[in-house]
Amino acid sequence: MSSTYQGRHYAGRHRVQRSHVRLPRALSASFVLPTTAAAALVVTATGATVAESAPLTLDLSGQQTAQVRNEQASDDAMVTDLATRRQASSMQTAALQGRVEAQQRAARDAKRKAADAAAARAKAEREGKRWVRAIRSGRITSDFGPRWGQTHDGLDFGAPTGTPLYAMSKGTVIMADYVFSFGNKVEIRYWDGTVSWYGHMSRISVFEGQTVMPGQFVGTVGNTGHSFGSHLHLEIHPSGGDNPIDPYPWLRDKGLLG
Ligand SMILES: [Zn+2]
Repeated sequence: MSSTYQGRHYAGRHRVQRSHVRLPRALSASFVLPTTAAAALVVTATGATVAESAPLTLDLSGQQTAQVRNEQASDDAMVTDLATRRQASSMQTAALQGRVEAQQRAARDAKRKAADAAAARAKAEREGKRWVRAIRSGRITSDFGPRWGQTHDGLDFGAPTGTPLYAMSKGTVIMADYVFSFGNKVEIRYWDGTVSWYGHMSRISVFEGQTVMPGQFVGTVGNTGHSFGSHLHLEIHPSGGDNPIDPYPWLRDKGLLG
């Protein structure tokens, strides 16, 4: 039936196949409302209304039937969709919970590690095993390695004469004297066996055999011996022998640079 249908019709002649749709009798296709009105409304398939002088008829077309079915299908789909979303939501919740638990675990681990590190630092502090800088100011003016056709066995820190120098950890002074080339020189053997050499010092303030602690003052920067300008010449001998290594990574690993 089209919206342009203008003709009269009788309810009795009206046939619509919809036996599979249960509707209240008042809304069924053939139910005719008695009326005395001269004009009545016929609801057509497309919802358009036309004035008629016939008894008021409610006409549910195939399209409307389909709409009812569609609505039912839509409801089913919504239920299914809701279930799917609930499932997805519970999976998301589980995943979120997993992440939260992982974060909590990581936080606990980090806290424990921090506590362990703090305890290790406290223990090292008690035992004098912490490491500190030999010089608190000054910048690196010459690297370890080949220099002027020779090998430079240490790291140079340029600093004014008189700049304080410190023992880098707990240890024993094994040499405190003036020697050729190095000028005033202090050697300290630390608790881990490493030996540091400080060269070209202007003043030596420790003696051989003296025990020193981390940060203890041992003398000052100078320009003695074979030196061109005031600086600390620092050598690191890991096993105490004449086996200097590049002090830079050694210092860096102990957090004594920058
Ligand atoms: Zn040097």
